[in-house]
Amino acid sequence: MNFCLNKISSYYKKWIKKLKNLIFVLNCGSSSVKFAILNPDNEKTYLSGLVERLFLPDTYITWKFLGTKHKKILGSNINHKFALDFVIEQVLLKQKDILKNLIGIGHRVVHGGIKIKESMLINDTVIKYIQDAISFAPLHNPANLIGIKVIIEKYPILSKKNVAVFDTSFYKDMPKTSFLYAIPYDFYKKHGIRRYGAHGISHHYIARKICIILNKNFNSLNIISCHLGNGSSISAICNGVCVDTSMGLTPLEGLVMGTRSGDIDPSIIFFMNKKLHIKFDEIESILTKKSGLLGLSGISSDFRYFEKNYNLKKEAKRSVDVFCHRLAKYISAYTTLMENRLDAVIFTGGIGENVPLIRELTLSRLSLLGFRINLKLNLSTKGGKSGLITELNSPPVFVISTNEELLIAQETMNLINQK
Ligand code: ADP
Repeated sequence: MNFCLNKISSYYKKWIKKLKNLIFVLNCGSSSVKFAILNPDNEKTYLSGLVERLFLPDTYITWKFLGTKHKKILGSNINHKFALDFVIEQVLLKQKDILKNLIGIGHRVVHGGIKIKESMLINDTVIKYIQDAISFAPLHNPANLIGIKVIIEKYPILSKKNVAVFDTSFYKDMPKTSFLYAIPYDFYKKHGIRRYGAHGISHHYIARKICIILNKNFNSLNIISCHLGNGSSISAICNGVCVDTSMGLTPLEGLVMGTRSGDIDPSIIFFMNKKLHIKFDEIESILTKKSGLLGLSGISSDFRYFEKNYNLKKEAKRSVDVFCHRLAKYISAYTTLMENRLDAVIFTGGIGENVPLIRELTLSRLSLLGFRINLKLNLSTKGGKSGLITELNSPPVFVISTNEELLIAQETMNLINQK
């Protein structure tokens, strides 16, 4: 017994000596809080966790520290502030050795709005710009702001450099032909109505990762990146620049999502309002919270349900078929944006990484473009495993696990080092 304890304690001491230059990453989502402590140089994650099901009857937190997993029920109807207090007081502040080595805090922010094009050290002006962008990301920016304010105002002990890393930054060089809507130009000039994109942090991470796998320079990379999770989006990257993406002014446009509709004919909104007398607030709630897979099936937004029931229940089949049809349509459209060469299509996100069925049904619709899935590789690539899932005579398709926290930590570190 003593031998065992001594072994753990000597492992711990060795481990502590290696700790330096740590970044705390905070990702306050609309109904979850993700957090991690990493060293962006050696890419090691020392602590990571997630508070799930905020505002529901059974909010709980799970975290992993030194290889040990912890779980605790937090209670009912828990909000972001309560969850953050728990994360900071019960998880973070208890790790004194980690705290001593913390040099910065990276906050994920979905929308930078009109003004912000890159990661920023947080000050009052940056907070104002994030506030101004709330109408572009009404589900996300308010939660992101709570995280920033709680850390800065309530926990001076964490008064390290706070950096905001924006999903929209990845789209800053998108050409006008992609980001303009065909509505009167003044709406763009005067009110900033344009395509901004979202999920940029994940697409950016994936692009960097595939460069390493394919041994390519970032600025000659041509890929189509599919991030499929509760929110889903697809980005076309040509010569290292994102040249188009499916999310628009807000993260509502594009692919079929868990509860969001993605693309619809805008006239549906007038029809709902004028003919069905549904108020605009309710229409917004229908399109953001009651549509997508949940709306199509009337049952669930959780892909585990659809995977299990695809061949058993017609509601599941029709929802998945619409999901894959839309995704295949986008992939084929985005191939036209590649300059003569497609280096890879990549699947990532909770669904992209874990559901072979989706990859198979989508790629089978793209055989005219030469896509040939390898069924064996596809079936075995899930649960955190990355790799190629196509035959050698096909345009390459990879599954890669995303790591938004790592990219946020690297951006945070870069900015701190620059100042
Ligand atoms: P978010 O957009 O909230 O970050 P995620 O990327 O975590 O979402 O993806 C959540 C989606 O992925 C859910 O629909 C969930 O059911 C699905 N998912 C996650 N893991 C699995 C799995 N092992 N099998 C099937 N579906 C999964």
